[in-house]
Amino acid sequence: MDKVILIKYGELTTKKGNRNFFVQTLYENVKNKLKNFDIKIKKDRDRMYIQFADRDLEQIKNIIDKIFGIHMYHIATIVETNIEELKKEILSVVSDFSFSTFKVETKRSDKTFPLKSLEISRILGGVILKKLDSVSVDVHHPELLIQVEIREKHSYIYCNRYFGSGGYPVGTQPRSLLMLSGGIDSPVAGYLAMKRGVQLDAVYFEAIPHTSLEARNKVITLTKKLAVYTDHIYLHIVNFTPIQEEIYKNCKPEYCITIMRRMMYRIMERLAERNHAYAIINGESIGQVASQTLVSMNVINEVTSIPVIRPVSCLDKLEIIDLAKKIDTYETSILPYEDCCTVFVPKHPVIHPKLSIAKKEEEKFNFDSMIDTAIEETLHMTITDEVLDEFSKLL
Ligand code: ATP
Ligand code: MG
Repeated sequence: MDKVILIKYGELTTKKGNRNFFVQTLYENVKNKLKNFDIKIKKDRDRMYIQFADRDLEQIKNIIDKIFGIHMYHIATIVETNIEELKKEILSVVSDFSFSTFKVETKRSDKTFPLKSLEISRILGGVILKKLDSVSVDVHHPELLIQVEIREKHSYIYCNRYFGSGGYPVGTQPRSLLMLSGGIDSPVAGYLAMKRGVQLDAVYFEAIPHTSLEARNKVITLTKKLAVYTDHIYLHIVNFTPIQEEIYKNCKPEYCITIMRRMMYRIMERLAERNHAYAIINGESIGQVASQTLVSMNVINEVTSIPVIRPVSCLDKLEIIDLAKKIDTYETSILPYEDCCTVFVPKHPVIHPKLSIAKKEEEKFNFDSMIDTAIEETLHMTITDEVLDEFSKLL
């Protein structure tokens, strides 16, 4: 009795025009994530099937649970598509369960099969009733729901279901750059963006010696944790020290954060151009701190014309924390290393900054050449969920 993991795509099915691209991307992602296992994968328009070795099942399930684009999956028994085989196999499938009521539900995708869905359910239900004295049919609240899918060559029987992560396969949307700070919010923002299919790079602004190498390692660990949901993530590390020091030397203290964030966005836009990225993603949340009031966001956002996506912008902190715990970034995020934003926080940052003042303040030093240098000196690392396989200063 052969078994397969039968995968249902869920949301993909609404994307009729792009279906092949979505399915192909999901197929590549599944193949890649399971490359160390002895498996065979087949796909068609609305299902994917993975043949596996029994010993690997739990590990494979753990991996599948984190692949976006999978709505639900089942461990199904494969049967040749003919009614005698189905009758035989349904008995061995149900022999694994103890139940007193059941229902057989059939989906007939192969319309050339001579029996209709209801007839198939009735025949297979009859086989079970005849074999097991103590059970009866309950179509409304069965203890055991036995699902049968009739397809051309093979059919599938299953009594279990597992929910996947949903969303779209990573890679169905182009590259975007996540501002990853080492706090709680930005890893969650990255996770949510990947769930929409975005191919993610991360950018970390550091201010050594005001921030430590431990803070950098924390961001590397967070990137690793996000890489579980994709193949690898490029992490770009920007030396922000000279710019930050100039800001604090020259600009009004209450405008320092506004200007610092305008500088970050300028660098982000330049890095996006270089890396063919289509959007900036960050962990800003409306009203969370002075720089995240809508007035602040307006003044800060003014320096860039590419989309800035803020996946957690409308979530409460507690909701963000729940997600951070779910994706296992929370414990790392709360490690107490200072970030460049926290090191330089002024006593009274402006809550409703004025664009004209921000512009005037930042003209007090020559930031263009400093931004050029920051871009030229950015470090680039490739992070996977297993190892750091590259550390280079390529650009
Ligand atoms: P988080 O918001 O991730 O919990 P935080 O609260 O320290 O961290 P904020 O000051 O709220 O960060 O900044 C808002 C967003 O700006 C962050 O979510 C992140 O996307 C981005 N950001 C802040 N500091 C940095 C940094 N040093 N490097 C990269 N991105 C940053
Ligand atoms: Mg925050």
